[in-house]
Amino acid sequence: MNGYGGSVLRVNLSTGQIQKQPTPQDVARDFLGGRGFGIYFLTKEVPPKADPFGQENKMIISSGPFSGLMIPGAGKCDWTTKSPLTGGYASASLGGHFTAELKYAGLDSIILEGISPKPVYLFIDDNQVELRDASHLWGKGSITVEKELKEQYGEEYQIATIGPAGENGVLFAHINHDYGRQAGRGGVGAVLGTKKVKAIVLHGTKSIPVADLPAYRQAGINLFKACKDAEILKEWQSYGTTMVVSWCDEVGALPTRNFTAGSFEDGKNLYGPVMRKTIVVSDKGCFACPSPCGKYSHTRRYNTYVEGPEYETIGMLGSDLGLGNIEDVAQANLLCDDLGIDTISTGGVIAWAMECFERGIFTKKDTDGLELKFGNAQAVFALIEKIARKDGFGALLAEGVKRASQKTGQGSEKFAIHVKGMEQSAYATHNATAMLLAYMTCDVGAHHNRAWAITYDIQVGREKVTTEKVARVIWLQNFRPMFDVLGACRLQWVELSIDRDLYLPALQAITGIPRSWKDLETVGERIWNLTRLYWIREIDGFGREWDLPAPRFYEDAPKTGATAGQITRFEDVQKLLDYYYEQRGWSKNGIPTPETIARLNLEQFVY
Ligand code: SF4
Repeated sequence: MNGYGGSVLRVNLSTGQIQKQPTPQDVARDFLGGRGFGIYFLTKEVPPKADPFGQENKMIISSGPFSGLMIPGAGKCDWTTKSPLTGGYASASLGGHFTAELKYAGLDSIILEGISPKPVYLFIDDNQVELRDASHLWGKGSITVEKELKEQYGEEYQIATIGPAGENGVLFAHINHDYGRQAGRGGVGAVLGTKKVKAIVLHGTKSIPVADLPAYRQAGINLFKACKDAEILKEWQSYGTTMVVSWCDEVGALPTRNFTAGSFEDGKNLYGPVMRKTIVVSDKGCFACPSPCGKYSHTRRYNTYVEGPEYETIGMLGSDLGLGNIEDVAQANLLCDDLGIDTISTGGVIAWAMECFERGIFTKKDTDGLELKFGNAQAVFALIEKIARKDGFGALLAEGVKRASQKTGQGSEKFAIHVKGMEQSAYATHNATAMLLAYMTCDVGAHHNRAWAITYDIQVGREKVTTEKVARVIWLQNFRPMFDVLGACRLQWVELSIDRDLYLPALQAITGIPRSWKDLETVGERIWNLTRLYWIREIDGFGREWDLPAPRFYEDAPKTGATAGQITRFEDVQKLLDYYYEQRGWSKNGIPTPETIARLNLEQFVY
């Protein structure tokens, strides 16, 4: 099949059985790859109501037809599983250089099944596939493990690994790769840890078949040329995602002290140019990236090196915790990467704990002696370690902010900032209604990357609640995740404003199949609806209530900053959902109607 590695690798960790199967052509036609393959295999193969940490759950790692080819940023793969954090769908995207090797090994997906009786790592070198003993790596940090495995096998081997947090089942444990790239959200690292898989070591040398080589070459050149000519390229390369810190601070979207405000009085110390001047030592990019957003940094205060921090981490481990020194944020970032926890959820859960402490719900007796006040960097470092090891007070936070607040009570559920149990990423949405709706309806919980609508809010009037706004969110949700399906980075389109039509000749030349964006958006809509059906299948009573945001965004207006006194009224939250469900073809309770299911050929997935 042109554009594909050709095989799905199945590894049964319980029995040690390893087998390769041809990538199903009909699945490639209807779901293309990446996230599409992930939700297809998850729905088909993991039985309803499976325990995320049980034998029946699977980890599905999938590339797309662009992956490993000369298309800008074509180094993305998707990690799909049943989420231990939310109980629903988890899908996390990984950049770096892992995905290209996956394709060069002739693989479109790896499906990890069962649970290994002892710690192992999966070793893949073209056709050689083995489970190898990882007892000597168990307990070690992600960065140490990656270094050790690279020393053993060589730089050309790509490594994905979990840290101690994944081993310990922290519900927002992540997977680390290339010393600082993550499949971050939903607890994918905890699922790998439960399966006793410490790492995947990957190398391949095979070619990827392409339908029309000259046309592919020309389409690739056109895309790279457009990136090179982009006006904003120089600024983007200098600062990466940290470009938006100052903008968010100015418009009131920078999460501050557990989202009690959207502007931070020490925010200026965290802006991109300050970071570039004080700690950045070099740029760092993923496979085939013409516009590297990664920044490799050195902290003088701690004498440590880290990839980052990028915007989300600055928001969640910086302003949201009241930390106004970029070196402190970078150090917290490094601890999370090495110990193996998602920086967004970690920031969210610590910010909630800090607010509890400042309100007197927690005292030093509860926090193992930590003075958990906003701005206390040393307490943050100590708590990150405790969370990863589920040590003392850290064990409570390791369950994520929804469960921790339910256990704690005393009204703390009201300021637990999450949707569907996933901690909200770094945009304060008190009165930015499109972005708020994007969080409310995101298919994994409160994550930003499906529909990054905050700039649209500012452009058209942030507080407005209109059908046009809702339509924009839906279009973004159908279209943007297609980059995760195709296996390429979306940031060249988002940040460099590359014409999306330039991708179509490339896709046709690679696969030999002409496709329009209308056609691809229908695939995106099919995937979006299938993820919704998955939630409905897994959670009894799933519906409208699950799409509500944290009360902070409709009850608790910021007292300071650019959005002081502003809020989205609860009736407008409901109105957003009414418009959204109607436009999606869902019932008033957020369930896809039979007509919608039939239109998208999803009948076979309805249980
Ligand atoms: Fe990776 Fe950033 Fe380049 Fe995207 S823009 S491919 S995330 S380095």
